[in-house]
Amino acid sequence: AKAEGRNRFHYFTPEMEAAAQRRRRMLNELREAIKLQQFEVYYQPIIDLSTGKIVKAEALLRWNHPKGQVPPLDFIPLAEETGLIVDIGNWVFAEVVRQVSVWKGYFDTDLQVGINTSPAQYLDENFCEPDWFGNIMGNGLASGLNPANLCIEITESLLMEAGSSITDKLLQFRDHGIEVALDDFGTGYSSLSYLKQFDIDYLKIDQSFVSNLSPASQDLVLCEAIIVMAHKLGIRVIAEGVETEEQRQLLTAIECDYCQGYLFGRPMPAKEFSDQWLIPSHL
Ligand code: C2E
Ligand code: CA
Ligand code: CA
Ligand code: CA
Repeated sequence: AKAEGRNRFHYFTPEMEAAAQRRRRMLNELREAIKLQQFEVYYQPIIDLSTGKIVKAEALLRWNHPKGQVPPLDFIPLAEETGLIVDIGNWVFAEVVRQVSVWKGYFDTDLQVGINTSPAQYLDENFCEPDWFGNIMGNGLASGLNPANLCIEITESLLMEAGSSITDKLLQFRDHGIEVALDDFGTGYSSLSYLKQFDIDYLKIDQSFVSNLSPASQDLVLCEAIIVMAHKLGIRVIAEGVETEEQRQLLTAIECDYCQGYLFGRPMPAKEFSDQWLIPSHL
């Protein structure tokens, strides 16, 4: 950190000035995005490998900026740094609750939808409190949503920071009947002690392990070890980024529970998703 301090620039180059300006502009636009209804939730199917049927989906946020769609990785870090992720995250939650409740009225579905959460959301004292649940979930529960239709996705960085207030909030989610998935497993620190410490329902194997799966690969050995361990702990496993039939077959052979990836479907708007993946209940 000292070396960094010595080498730090004391003036802005034109490029840095331009980047700072872009960031300020994006931040201003991001602040307005909820009000202007520029956010949209896309849904990506998750398949049960033993039946081949869709049983879950992941909710993935999209920002429909007037100049074109901005990918989440281009704005979520900024939203996290500035605390805007609290409002955005609450919006996503409410929107998914609304959408799943509507689907349950029209389709024969008991789909579980995974919602990504950022550590910064857990620092908001309202998050997960009874009022928050009432506001976000009240209407949905009244119209047939089951808490088990929701799963929250957390990352290891959340568990690393875990003070008791974060652990409490995770417990509250589970007490409400909402399941918990540990996302991007295998990247980051992957301390196995988290699996012992926190009662999680799913592990999502990061796509970096899945993309190079082949019969003789080390990644196959790693995936199999993760799955065996998870199952012994009563945790089910979702493989992310499944793009090929060979990957699907290898994951089936090592008894992975669920798969998500372009092989089955890309994230898509709600209407397209329900047209393609849900069965109308009058049929
Ligand atoms: P993630 O939670 O790991 O989500 C999976 C990402 O992998 C998604 O990228 C998805 O489109 C992509 N993906 C799915 N299948 C495949 C595949 O077969 N191949 C490849 N190459 N990619 C695949 P996306 O939608 O761009 O989202 C990126 C990240 O942004 C997410 O990673 C998540 O960390 C974050 N994010 C998205 N929506 C939200 C949100 O509502 N709240 C928060 N806090 N973060 C979000
Ligand atoms: Ca995720
Ligand atoms: Ca992931
Ligand atoms: Ca469990």
